[in-house]
Amino acid sequence: MDPVLGWFESRREELIEWIRGLVEIESPSHDPAAVNRAADYVTASEAGRATVERTETDGYGDVLQLTYELPGGGEDGQILGLGHLDTVYPHGTLQRMPFRQADGRLWGPGVFDMKTGVAYFLFAVRALRELNVACRQRRFVLLLNPDEEVGSPASRPFTERGARKSAATLVTEGALGLDGKVKTARKGGGQFRIAVEGIAAHAGLDFEAGASAVVEIARQIEQVAGWTDLAAGVTINPGVVRGGTTSNVVAEHASCDVDVRVPRLDQAAHLETRFRGLRPFDPRTRVTVTGGLRRPPMERSEGTVALYKLAKGLAHEMGVELGEAGVGGGSDGNFTAALGVPTLDGLGAIGEGAHSERESILAGRMCDRAALVAKLLAAV
Ligand SMILES: [Zn+2]
Repeated sequence: MDPVLGWFESRREELIEWIRGLVEIESPSHDPAAVNRAADYVTASEAGRATVERTETDGYGDVLQLTYELPGGGEDGQILGLGHLDTVYPHGTLQRMPFRQADGRLWGPGVFDMKTGVAYFLFAVRALRELNVACRQRRFVLLLNPDEEVGSPASRPFTERGARKSAATLVTEGALGLDGKVKTARKGGGQFRIAVEGIAAHAGLDFEAGASAVVEIARQIEQVAGWTDLAAGVTINPGVVRGGTTSNVVAEHASCDVDVRVPRLDQAAHLETRFRGLRPFDPRTRVTVTGGLRRPPMERSEGTVALYKLAKGLAHEMGVELGEAGVGGGSDGNFTAALGVPTLDGLGAIGEGAHSERESILAGRMCDRAALVAKLLAAV
């Protein structure tokens, strides 16, 4: 058996226990103290193994940076690992969906997205050290962010700074599909808010004096929704609408929050221009647009493809066929890829049901996946 895979098979229970510990600390993005309890767990676990730096952020938990020396005294370079400790689940979710093992899976809030992925990085370093595997790079810097699920407003500069110093970025977000594809492309995304100010009037007595913000937002929605181009991978989703007060008043205010996804940077710039250029259909109303692209697309660059091929070869050594995919959702890997740093994402757990009651990972695929992360850390 592959020695790295063998190491993980022998540590399987320890790995599950570690994952359980982290899943059982609820860590919704909007509760800094809760996310910091997850960071405390990792800090305690890695004391003596890594140099730990914690930086407070404004409004979110700490950004946790762990720096590991890799065995083998390789080149003076570093690899960046990206993970996040926050989840989308509010407090109390554990009562409804406790951590458990059943049907060949581990279940629980955040087990797939992405607490198991965090465990893979930590255990990967342990495996490399105990097996004294000669690694190509000297350092592994792992950033565990507190705010990924809300678009990484506070941690983004840390991620970008880390990437600029690194030969490559590995991200252990969950894999795609139950065959465990890694992600070599991700759409970029953002949110725009279109707000309309009209003129209020009594719908019966004074209808013509009014200019309806609700009618205007409806026309704007129809227009921007028409910019969806499925063949090009561009999607526009007007997801939330607000407006008006009561039915006998011509509405003074209305707004719509629109989610946009694009596979390429130039499409993002084009959409940005189109949104900023929105003008009212009814000239008596005023239209304002705020927001923009939050994450640039992660394009399938040559560097990323090279990383994927490396990973595919390493997986093959363990008898695993590693596929790749492009996906709609973004991650912190989008930021590093946009800087031109080779980035491979979706290296984490194989499972499904992120952000839902079905969130679970395949227990039978834990060891080979964690071993793949370790082998990549050594080979990049
Ligand atoms: Zn995630």
